Amino acid sequence: MNYRHAYHAGNPADVIKHAVLAYVIAHLVQKPAPLRVIDSHAGAGLYDLTSDAAERTGEWVEGIGRLWGRDLPAELEAFLGPWLDQVAGVNPDGRLRFYPGSPEIARGMLRDVDGLTLCELHPEDGEGLADLYRRDRRVKVIQRDGWLAPKAFLPPKERRGLILIDPPFEQKGDYDRLVEALAEGHRRWASGIFLLWYPVKDPAEVKRFHRAIAGLAIPKSLTVEAIWRPVDGTRLSGAGLVTVNAPYTLAPAIRAASRSLWDVLGVPAGRLLLSGDAS
Ligand code: SAM
Repeated sequence: MNYRHAYHAGNPADVIKHAVLAYVIAHLVQKPAPLRVIDSHAGAGLYDLTSDAAERTGEWVEGIGRLWGRDLPAELEAFLGPWLDQVAGVNPDGRLRFYPGSPEIARGMLRDVDGLTLCELHPEDGEGLADLYRRDRRVKVIQRDGWLAPKAFLPPKERRGLILIDPPFEQKGDYDRLVEALAEGHRRWASGIFLLWYPVKDPAEVKRFHRAIAGLAIPKSLTVEAIWRPVDGTRLSGAGLVTVNAPYTLAPAIRAASRSLWDVLGVPAGRLLLSGDAS
């Protein structure tokens, strides 16, 4: 296991993933009934953007670095606001130093009645996560294989909430494992919200993945794909999230935010593609 999210935290792929995650949780907490967030590949939880890892790649500069401290147009604020509030929450003095990963975003938004289940297999990140949340009784950190999460944790006892499946794509087969995880998870919890992250690098592989997801014929699915540079098969050109049962306001919110998002990120040729029956 070589992947460490500390090198990538806050990059453009995180912007899309975390904006959608926070948007969906903001919707879920509007109703009083308890809910659970399950994060099968949780990472370290909180990242220091002045660390060696973050400084070595500087990837965050092109993501959160472009959005932090800017006056955003209303349509962009409506989509990004819940996520940016969480980034502000871990930087109370107003200077951008820390970046919240998916566990910290979820934890910052959940209420006392809610629960958070985190799986992280990397020994150091798993230990760090357990330390970070030791005193929060809502959070369970499980240092085991997150691919087992659909079978092990679905449906959650709360019967409301979401599962984020965000593997590192270090190993061949992660696209197939995502499809299997969604099929298994949805069989067990048809009303749950699913968010599955995938990279856009090799166009043939992404096409095969889209076809396999469509083949599951799961209703209320929406795929959001962000492309920030030409897809040439050699480097990360974009990233996507397959969502199921996301709030019906998500697609219009993304569509409205799309143009100004790319302007603020400084990527005039960027595209946000929406597909699926909920698009
Ligand atoms: N979800 C995090 C976020 O958005 O802040 C980022 C997660 S990162 C893309 C993927 C994580 O999965 C890494 O921290 C890696 O150590 C972990 N990982 C890899 N294989 C795993 C497995 N089989 N089960 C659980 N975690 C795993």
